[in-house]
Amino acid sequence: ALAVVGGLAATLAACSSGGGSGSTDSAGADCNVGISMPTRSLERWINDGEGLQKKLQDAGCTVDLQYADNKTEQQISQIQNQVASGAKILVIAAIDGETLGPVLDEAKKQDVTVIAYDRLINGSPNVDYYATFDNYKVGQLQGQYIEEQLGLKDGKGPYNFEPFAGSPDDNNAGFFFHGAWDVLEPYVKSGQLVVPSGKIPEGEDGWKSIGILGWGSDDAQAEMDNRLSSFYSGGQKVDVVLSPNDSLALGIEQSLKSAGYKAGEGWPVITGQDADKANVKAILDGEQSMTVWKDTRELGDRVFQMIQQINGGQEVEVNDTETYDNGEKVVPAYLLDPQVVVKDDVQKLLIDSGFLQASDVGL
Ligand code: BGC
Repeated sequence: ALAVVGGLAATLAACSSGGGSGSTDSAGADCNVGISMPTRSLERWINDGEGLQKKLQDAGCTVDLQYADNKTEQQISQIQNQVASGAKILVIAAIDGETLGPVLDEAKKQDVTVIAYDRLINGSPNVDYYATFDNYKVGQLQGQYIEEQLGLKDGKGPYNFEPFAGSPDDNNAGFFFHGAWDVLEPYVKSGQLVVPSGKIPEGEDGWKSIGILGWGSDDAQAEMDNRLSSFYSGGQKVDVVLSPNDSLALGIEQSLKSAGYKAGEGWPVITGQDADKANVKAILDGEQSMTVWKDTRELGDRVFQMIQQINGGQEVEVNDTETYDNGEKVVPAYLLDPQVVVKDDVQKLLIDSGFLQASDVGL
């Protein structure tokens, strides 16, 4: 009986929000949006996709949300279907930022407005807006955290340091790496940070040589296993790991555990990004030092606002028109501010704000 009542209430709510002209106005009339997300395997994309979908549906929009299992071909055909079914706005977090040009050409022919979500889409003139967090700053915060924790400015060291980078096909990964590297490279040069594996990227694209394709935890774990067994065999210990995000950090932490490292007993400084549940738990357990938190709800709000402005025929608000050159144009962007979360901030920033539940992280 309860289910029936719930179902009825839900139907009524849907009727009143979908049918009334008042609420459709809040996202514009004829609001039809396709959302294309990379994968369900990472918590953040589930939150991103479902959060935005709900917001848009509540405003009376028709929404199609698709996840592409980290497969580019799948993402392309999902986007084709969305265009064919009448989407007027596409919100896309690209798997491979270089491969969507042809499908966006099709979308343009149907007069679709394209918003790149979190990750820039490269090599296409048909990217209208970009909403993201300041990706360079994400890396910079990781680099500065390491700099501070290790007292590098005070000349301390040498420390054994292992740098990691994200997926070479993800435009964000270069920004993350350069943000961190611009802080840390001088200490590699001065010898305060020593890289026993020798994995020291050179030049603009050098980071790709140490990038973990597809951002998988398992691959990061295998890479760390390799580095530990090949370069730390004489009882050397790693003191610090630059990990660009939480999925990589999780694999690196597994590897350290298998190699006998223990929290609180010479466990290295390890960075991360996203505030995934497992990593926040690791932070509380002393197995990860920090994460750079990007409140994906804010990103959803920002994109929702862009959609309202597009549908309302207003100027779309952006705050960066210089940084994100996709090879065809500089895409007008709205950059949000990422922030560092350490153990002491978990309650206040992540739980009190409702981003995570205490029970998610064993509190
Ligand atoms: C996102 C990160 C995420 C990574 C792996 C990046 O593009 O900005 O938040 O950790 O992809 O999915």
